Amino acid sequence: MARIYNFSAGPSTFPEPVLEQASRELPDWHAKGLSVLEMTHRGQDFVAIAQKAEADLRELLQIPVHYKVLFLQGGATTQFAAVPLNLLGSRGKAAYIHTGIWSEKAIREAEKYGEVDVVASSEAENFTVIPDLSGLKLDERTAYLHYTANETIGGLEFPFIPEAHGIPLVTDASSNILSRALDVNRFGLIYAGAQKNLGPAGITVVIVREDLLGKARPETPTILDYSIQAKHESMLNTPPTYSWYLLGLVLEWLKQQGGIAAIEARNIRKAQKLYDFIDASPFYISPIDPRYRSRMNVPFRLVNSTFEKTFIEEARSAGLINLEGHRSVGGLRASIYNAQPEAAVDALIAFLKSFEGRHVA
Ligand code: PMP
Repeated sequence: MARIYNFSAGPSTFPEPVLEQASRELPDWHAKGLSVLEMTHRGQDFVAIAQKAEADLRELLQIPVHYKVLFLQGGATTQFAAVPLNLLGSRGKAAYIHTGIWSEKAIREAEKYGEVDVVASSEAENFTVIPDLSGLKLDERTAYLHYTANETIGGLEFPFIPEAHGIPLVTDASSNILSRALDVNRFGLIYAGAQKNLGPAGITVVIVREDLLGKARPETPTILDYSIQAKHESMLNTPPTYSWYLLGLVLEWLKQQGGIAAIEARNIRKAQKLYDFIDASPFYISPIDPRYRSRMNVPFRLVNSTFEKTFIEEARSAGLINLEGHRSVGGLRASIYNAQPEAAVDALIAFLKSFEGRHVA
């Protein structure tokens, strides 16, 4: 297999052994004479696939028994609406931390369903830091506190879990779930679109504490009601079966890597060497405060931005693709999720070095 290095922010690089296994199993799963694509979701084979994925996720994240794990559709964007619809309850108000483009989208959606307090923001610092949360004020009508664990576009990541002062803490962990240790007990709800660290696009994981179920607004669409989805084991309607199966294979791969502790150590090493190189070079800049730099998404710029187009073209010719920053912010960005091999980061650093050598004044 001739593979290029893909730095896309999502859908993103898959673990190669998973691609190989999926391709072997595609026409005939476990000698059953049919593909996972062709299985009914109500049959025992698919139910076993689904249950194994849940068990592996529970094991990897040590999810306590009083949390439900849901496998839903509609991406994290759907959760921007589902979270307030399910959790606002009679309190009617939610607190959000504003750290960039994805938290902003979550805020805008929640505002449709209730009152939103933006209790902390780093907008004034151009989202280069996590805001100071020491004086956080949550009034008694606040139903939950929401934050975006990793801002995929800005490259800003929480290195700690915020204190929610007794109310449920909710996080959008789409772009860093399973990349680092996470104490699920600290949360009321965690949600994540799969297409970065969990698997393919089309499936979204929601981990929710049981006592938060059953409080959805009456007008909540049935499909977005967590308690109904929990009752039906995420099979209220036809689930994205193939995505669920692939997600399961990614989790098995992650366990074979040594689980979260092993992958976290590798993620730290990968990110550190890339940031170290950028910091040491007068040719490239990382805009984010070093304390809050994302291990998953590394945005950077060329000091002389006129070279950007050439950079992208030459990188592509060198087998390094999708290094463009998000279309809303420009610049450059390397996404280096769990499945991104360390060799890809080494190849990127070698390219950065050679590009600098060829273009430095
Ligand atoms: N939140 C974050 C942090 C994201 O990175 C993304 C997608 N890049 C989303 C939400 C939206 O996810 P989806 O496209 O699955 O709706």
